[in-house]
Amino acid sequence: MQLEMMSADVVVIGAGVVGSAIARELSRFQLNVVLLERQADVACGTTKANTALVHAGYDADPGSWKAKLNVMGCAMYPRITAELGVAYRNTGSLVVALEKDQVEGLRFLRDRGIRNGVPGLEIIPHGKVVDLEPNISPAAVGALWAPSAGITNPWELAIACAENAAVNGVRVLLSSPVIGIDVENGRASVVKCPNCLVHTRFVVNAAGIDADEMSHMVGQTDYTISPRKGEYYLYDKRVGGYVRRPLFPVPTPFSKGIVVAPTVDGNMLAGPNSQQVDDKHDRATTAAGLAEVLSGALKLMPSLPTRESITNFTGLRAVAKPAGDFVIGPAPGVPNFINAAGIQSPGLTAAPAIAVAIRDLLSDAGLDLVERPDFNPIRKRPLQFAEMPREVQAELMEKNPLWGHIICRCESVTEAEIVEAIHRPVPCTTLDGIKRRTRAGAGRCQGGFCGPRVTAIISRELGIPMEEVTKKGGLSRILDGRTKQPLPDVEQDVEQDVEQDVEADGGEGALGNA
Ligand SMILES: Cc1cc2nc3c(=O)[nH]c(=O)nc-3n(C[C@H](O)[C@H](O)[C@H](O)COP(=O)(O)OP(=O)(O)OC[C@H]3O[C@@H](n4cnc5c(N)ncnc54)[C@H](O)[C@@H]3O)c2cc1C
Repeated sequence: MQLEMMSADVVVIGAGVVGSAIARELSRFQLNVVLLERQADVACGTTKANTALVHAGYDADPGSWKAKLNVMGCAMYPRITAELGVAYRNTGSLVVALEKDQVEGLRFLRDRGIRNGVPGLEIIPHGKVVDLEPNISPAAVGALWAPSAGITNPWELAIACAENAAVNGVRVLLSSPVIGIDVENGRASVVKCPNCLVHTRFVVNAAGIDADEMSHMVGQTDYTISPRKGEYYLYDKRVGGYVRRPLFPVPTPFSKGIVVAPTVDGNMLAGPNSQQVDDKHDRATTAAGLAEVLSGALKLMPSLPTRESITNFTGLRAVAKPAGDFVIGPAPGVPNFINAAGIQSPGLTAAPAIAVAIRDLLSDAGLDLVERPDFNPIRKRPLQFAEMPREVQAELMEKNPLWGHIICRCESVTEAEIVEAIHRPVPCTTLDGIKRRTRAGAGRCQGGFCGPRVTAIISRELGIPMEEVTKKGGLSRILDGRTKQPLPDVEQDVEQDVEQDVEADGGEGALGNA
């Protein structure tokens, strides 16, 4: 492999929602910024698996980074999501007391929220809770109403930030794991990946669950990241309206509790539980964990339509020890290495504010921030066939027949959307990447029908054999190899095989010739 040598003003390690938001914030200035991501796509870490809530900000201790950046981030959501064409709804949220003696807990949260600067907090009685949420448990005695809370799409925000950063000049390097950092005269100087060496003036560590390993590379050992697992149920869109806004129980010292919430895409979520694990890459769901999630969700909504679950998943919280708070600031003794580490919940909410805080810390550390006159804050939301009025659909089909070719039937995703996703400013090369950008494979059948078609489209658009298309990069190939070879006298490529199969049998045979 050719080793590319580069130089940068700032290297950001990790393209989750935090690293991508930081890269986008830095792209406002006349700087040479490189965003390095280990995985084949952005948003493949904790950013892809969480509750997707924009928290109001009453959970964290006053004065902590979490408290400050949560409230600030929450207030930034309407603007940043509008600029970047990302889904967001200001739903408000409820913390529900199911017993009289939990009302004291609501007062505690309200008072803490007021100290954190959360607007509009109010304790509301049973009748008002039922008006807001008709399917709530009859045991609900009251709730804390937080009108500034909302819901969003976490990976959409990360992708949008990375794309907007790329359009504004940031170099986004995927499949580029940082394997070493040189420190010279007390400063991080070279960031090393297997494919490149980047000479840099500053480094930002936004490596999520592995951020402590990046810190160790520059000699910082005063914190470690310990993973805490959270498991979920995701429910079909046909019961998505069962809950209107995020519903929390009264929290415990370890977790905000098991939430029932709508998603911006029209599904419903239940979860997460909270379980300390040793392995930073243990994303398995367990029968015991899911039973705990279900039991918690049923306490809030006893008539939850549990049979409508379409999948389960797990997210890993990056809990920094001993602090418990976000680790934000320079590594001791290495002033040009700035941490955005230990970003557990409410990290999604706080991400836009973390980006501003890191920008200011870089400036304090000596980075000149000269605004770029041509910075473009706007990233247009990609067109979605399923959301369009019929006349617009017809117009687009007239111009480009790929708009009339439905690939994912569950979510009505067309070939045009998939082709467009593959060629956006941050390239998308995997099935999971297509799912996160277009929802092809995110519906009830979870990609059972459209997976082979998406594989063929990626292969065609990238000019690679179908056997090289992966689910999520690395060795996660969809196809192991060919079981039949084309006849020697027939000039027929794999793409044509698939097209013919698709037309003949509606998709069932799409893998048959591969
Ligand atoms: C169960 C659960 C529920 C949550 N719910 C919410 C919520 O509702 N609202 C909210 O505000 N927050 C929530 N959070 C928190 C939120 O999801 C996280 O704070 C946020 O996603 C963290 O983003 P990040 O970019 O720091 O980390 P990540 O998304 O993990 O990104 C880190 C990136 O760094 C990359 N990386 C790691 N090592 C290297 C390396 N050596 N070289 C290059 N790249 C590297 C990784 O591949 C990854 O892409 C929840 C978290 C969990 C686990």
